[in-house]
Amino acid sequence: MKRRYFRLACAPGPCYRPAMQRFDAIILGGGASGLYCAMHAARRGLSVAVADHSAKPARKVRISGGGKGNFTNLRVGPENYLCANPHFVKSALARHTPWDVIDFFTAHGVSYEERDHGQLFTLEGAPRLAGILTEQCGRLGVAFFLGHDVDVADSSGPFRVRAGAEELSAEKLVLALGGPSWPQAGGSDLGFRLAERFGLAVVPPRPGLVGLVFPKKLRSLCRDLSGNALVAMVATGDAAFTDPLLFTHTGISGPATLQASSYWREGRPVTIDFLPGQPLAELVETHRGSNVLFKNLLARVLPKRLPAHLLSPGTSETPVSQLSGEQVEAAADRVHRFTFTPAGTEGPVKAEVTVGGVDTDMISSKTFEAKPVPGLHVIGETLDVAGHLGGYNLHWAFASGAACGQSL
Ligand SMILES: Cc1cc2nc3c(=O)[nH]c(=O)nc-3n(C[C@H](O)[C@H](O)[C@H](O)COP(=O)(O)OP(=O)(O)OC[C@H]3O[C@@H](n4cnc5c(N)ncnc54)[C@H](O)[C@@H]3O)c2cc1C
Repeated sequence: MKRRYFRLACAPGPCYRPAMQRFDAIILGGGASGLYCAMHAARRGLSVAVADHSAKPARKVRISGGGKGNFTNLRVGPENYLCANPHFVKSALARHTPWDVIDFFTAHGVSYEERDHGQLFTLEGAPRLAGILTEQCGRLGVAFFLGHDVDVADSSGPFRVRAGAEELSAEKLVLALGGPSWPQAGGSDLGFRLAERFGLAVVPPRPGLVGLVFPKKLRSLCRDLSGNALVAMVATGDAAFTDPLLFTHTGISGPATLQASSYWREGRPVTIDFLPGQPLAELVETHRGSNVLFKNLLARVLPKRLPAHLLSPGTSETPVSQLSGEQVEAAADRVHRFTFTPAGTEGPVKAEVTVGGVDTDMISSKTFEAKPVPGLHVIGETLDVAGHLGGYNLHWAFASGAACGQSL
């Protein structure tokens, strides 16, 4: 059968006729899911090749968690993931628990600390996690083809891959190419383009775990408050997260915003409660006898310059003892239900994850094989699975990588 190669990356290569190297499985992408998958497959005796355009594998793992690697979470469940089919993640999560991930890394000398919400961070630093994954693959004989663009043959039968000057073939091909977030750390949309090439549907991708940009009319808030943080509830649609919120020079960020951003859709409003669990009316009542100006009372519980942006000038300068019921109600509305429509997100360059990806209806939740394309598998962030902030994305990469590697 005549084979046609399609070039998936830009660099035009010289004319060459390399010898074909055969493997049981070729994994495209040497990130968190690809390396974990390679390791599990190689442990079963399979010959495995990993091809990646980065010269160093697992670049996102190296920078994860601000360099501290939030590598899993003690409380992982399907509710921590966005996926068009919320049941899809259940099987892999049940088969590879946080303790499996902890056992693997601690067996290789990693120690860790637990932070808020069950998040586990390594004490040795994130690069060590990447080092362990790479070393284990090396020990198990996984062949690496790094630092080159990748081509895949557009044909049936054994999959054929070109990685730089090398030509590889295998009966199994795994797309572990992540998503386009953080292109500066190797992210690209190759996984989606390839999946579509193989006839798989892709849920339109968008940036997740990313800062939100204020519309023009709220930019003065950034000027006055950039760098200030407080605990707030950020909500959009049915999703609401109470966590620290940070004002940036373009809008808002911090954990509460990042979590909500994954659920945000262009044109939809976002609501902030700046005093979650602390009704403003009660605060006013406890200070009813006081002549302190309302803006100064609020400055005790909010960043100092925020009240001026929330209250009308008249209300702001009124002593608490003289506030009318209507003024309190209007102020409570602004403080607890501050609603705006973001101009956008900070985009893929700042997004920790890509929401959307290969439609999971086309993928077996047990083996991660594409139902319409025998031998083709898709794992990790390339799938339409995005985790909340807190170690859930690396956990998904590991859980899906393990399930796939054990079934190849
Ligand atoms: C700054 C940052 C911090 C993060 N911190 C955390 C954290 O602390 N905890 C957490 O759970 N998650 C974190 N994440 C998310 C997590 O890193 C990813 O969800 C996870 O790495 C996804 O694993 P993956 O294997 O699917 O993709 P990746 O790890 O991104 O691996 C994909 C691989 O494919 C390769 N590739 C991509 N395009 C091409 C191409 N065109 N040709 C050849 N190779 C290609 C890449 O070089 C990469 O090695 C963070 C992400 C970022 C950007």
